[in-house]
Amino acid sequence: MFAWRLLKDRLPTRVNLRRRQVEVEDSTCPLCRNMEESACHLFFQCSRILPVWWESLNWTNIVGAFPLNSKQHFLYHIGGLEGGVRANRWKWWWLALTWTIWKHKNNVIFSNATFDANKVLDDALFLLWTWLRNLEKGFSTHYNHWSSNLSIGFNTDEEGSHHFSHAQAMAH
Ligand SMILES: [Zn+2]
Repeated sequence: MFAWRLLKDRLPTRVNLRRRQVEVEDSTCPLCRNMEESACHLFFQCSRILPVWWESLNWTNIVGAFPLNSKQHFLYHIGGLEGGVRANRWKWWWLALTWTIWKHKNNVIFSNATFDANKVLDDALFLLWTWLRNLEKGFSTHYNHWSSNLSIGFNTDEEGSHHFSHAQAMAH
């Protein structure tokens, strides 16, 4: 439901609320206080959020410019990948991260929380890990292990990480 609303740009961002004639005192993005809070801005362009995406692109070696709307952004991340475990994990990562950004943004607005990009990253990773545990048969990597080897965690299946440990063992 959240994802559907995001892809259709139906989330109650400040810009969308105003479009629906809801009184909004201030439509500025609560994270950077610099731009209007549209979905595009909040999730993909905000200067507080971009580093989180960049950080996660490091794990997969995906490079390139960022498409500007959510649908393109989503397709871009999926489209660049061949199917299988890797593409699947990216799809879930995209959902986990956008959902976590939305929750944190609401905490800033409604609970006066201080925005912390590292916390967003940590929470989104933990969420993804709990999803993967339920979704992927045989996914049993311990959270600490998985989250400290993310480029491996995103790029290989269980068998792959097994090969990796084997290679590592050989190297020692
Ligand atoms: Zn912003």
